[in-house]
Amino acid sequence: MAQALTVTFPERDEVDFVIVGSGSAGGIIAKELSAAGHSVVVLEQGPHLQASDFTHDEWGIDHNYDMKWSTRQGYPQTFRKSENEEAELRDSVCGYAHNVGGSSVHFSGNFWRFRPIDFMEATVRGTVGGTNFADWPISYEDLEPYYTKVDWEIGVSGLQGPWDPPRSREYPCPPMPIKGSDVLLERAAKQLGLTPYPAPVAILSQPFNGRPGCIHCGFCNGFGCEVNAKSSSMIAMIPLALASGNCELRTGCTVSRVHTNAAGRVTEVVYWDEESVERAQRAKAVILCANGAETPRLLLMSESPLFPDGLANTSGFVGQNLMFNGHSSVTGLFGAPVNAWKSVPTTRVVHDFYELDPNLGFYGGGGIDGRHPTRGVPLGFGLVSGQVFDGPSWGVGYKNNLAYEFSHVAAFNGHTTSLPQGSNNVTLDPTYKDKFGRPAIRCTYMDHEDDLATMRWFLNKSTELMEAAGAVKIAATYPETGQEGSSHLLGTCRMGDDPNTSVIDSNNRSHDVPNLFMCDGSTLVTSGRGQPTMTIMALAFRAAEMINNAARRNEI
Ligand SMILES: Cc1cc2nc3c(=O)[nH]c(=O)nc-3n(C[C@H](O)[C@H](O)[C@H](O)COP(=O)(O)OP(=O)(O)OC[C@H]3O[C@@H](n4cnc5c(N)ncnc54)[C@H](O)[C@@H]3O)c2cc1C
Ligand code: SF4
Repeated sequence: MAQALTVTFPERDEVDFVIVGSGSAGGIIAKELSAAGHSVVVLEQGPHLQASDFTHDEWGIDHNYDMKWSTRQGYPQTFRKSENEEAELRDSVCGYAHNVGGSSVHFSGNFWRFRPIDFMEATVRGTVGGTNFADWPISYEDLEPYYTKVDWEIGVSGLQGPWDPPRSREYPCPPMPIKGSDVLLERAAKQLGLTPYPAPVAILSQPFNGRPGCIHCGFCNGFGCEVNAKSSSMIAMIPLALASGNCELRTGCTVSRVHTNAAGRVTEVVYWDEESVERAQRAKAVILCANGAETPRLLLMSESPLFPDGLANTSGFVGQNLMFNGHSSVTGLFGAPVNAWKSVPTTRVVHDFYELDPNLGFYGGGGIDGRHPTRGVPLGFGLVSGQVFDGPSWGVGYKNNLAYEFSHVAAFNGHTTSLPQGSNNVTLDPTYKDKFGRPAIRCTYMDHEDDLATMRWFLNKSTELMEAAGAVKIAATYPETGQEGSSHLLGTCRMGDDPNTSVIDSNNRSHDVPNLFMCDGSTLVTSGRGQPTMTIMALAFRAAEMINNAARRNEI
């Protein structure tokens, strides 16, 4: 692994860039800009964990939210379905990991590229009533070189499938070996005339770039990887940023405000350090990579006489158009062991329905993959066992039922589109505050009727597949009254050419503030089909190149 070169920048000296957040996007931007010779300070609110810190502690992860920011740890979030309701305090609505590497550390690693259609859907499909559905200002062709950069610099395993968009270079690692649930999915899909193929994942199927291949421990979704086979920005990017000698990573530092001067340019970033002492770092430019919930909150908290509605918010679009991605799940009980808990979350995907037929009368699309119905760990499953299929829920009968169900089930999950709506948003809660006194994230969200119809359609298709797979019992579920939280936080500072309907331009620069950039899930114009992080990372590589070029030309 690259050797870290310690560098410390005085706060009163102006560094080239302050990056807020070291997650999927922030880690890439930090590496790219520091390797290009710029002085970079990364402010990350969480700790810098290592592979040796990660455990299989299901209670800690699933019950105590050890890796998530939640109300229990002093970071309240509130939720309501519409602006007519009073928002209620919830444990975790916008679920993300607070540590170096952000949610790329404990995500599942499903890594679908967007396709050409995703960038121009509004033109092809027309408007969708009640939404801000729009084309992107860039195309798939613009982003393709950066998708390939993600493949090779972050580490992706897969095989080009029949539906995949064109790629300029093969995957660096072959696909993961097929797991039990996906043997069933593959067989059923072929029986129905569909085209299942190996799921692309940000997980190494074999040693690559000095990291080992996956050991198939089964604790992927929600957990950090103990062998560094999962391709987080924590392991793939941050070590290179630190090795550049130009990057200082300050952990335990929670940013509260971005200051601007009378000319409307950002000057410094204010934060609390590990001892809760308030500090400020001066910078020539600031790049917000705090994710689709925290970046808009920070902008809204950074209001000033010049920007009374929040920094970079003359469009009024900061915090708006929040998209979660839809989902559905069909669980089947089989007469023989499936052992779907083993290995990575999924190894096969059916992408025949990326775009649903417009004649269905609603907009949508997505993919179906095979998995274990829970995170693939016994405790999580134990908490719901007996409710999935009507077995005993207490005593020896329950134990036997749990052991049987845990090893004999598979789930076929749908991952689908979300439409951008102004009524779905992140705003500042007027009542609840976090331990620093910052207004809590208030999330207002109700899925569009087309998104619900899409989830339902995928639920039915998964049920058909489950029947074809030979399940003896089937249980199906989707959020039919609307989702009330997610770990996919997209669209709240969208990219666009028109400053009236977008927050950043196609180079990730704020329309309002020339030395402020947003680069994370907030910048997505549309949601894709359910796995946004490959695109968040590709956009980060692209943004870093644009920012570096602009800095070299003295245009920041
Ligand atoms: C359990 C789980 C499974 C997932 N599985 C998948 C999957 O299979 N495929 C997929 O595509 N996506 C998946 N995701 C979603 C994916 O992880 C996110 O889309 C992605 O990480 C978002 O990247 P980001 O850069 O926008 O933000 P993040 O990765 O969330 O990074 C933001 C960083 O900013 C820091 N930060 C925030 N506010 C502040 C502040 N004020 N001061 C200092 N630091 C701050 C945070 O601590 C964090 O480290 C999953 C997420 C979870 C939680
Ligand atoms: S399944 Fe593989 S990639 Fe996932 S946590 Fe275990 S070893 Fe790491």
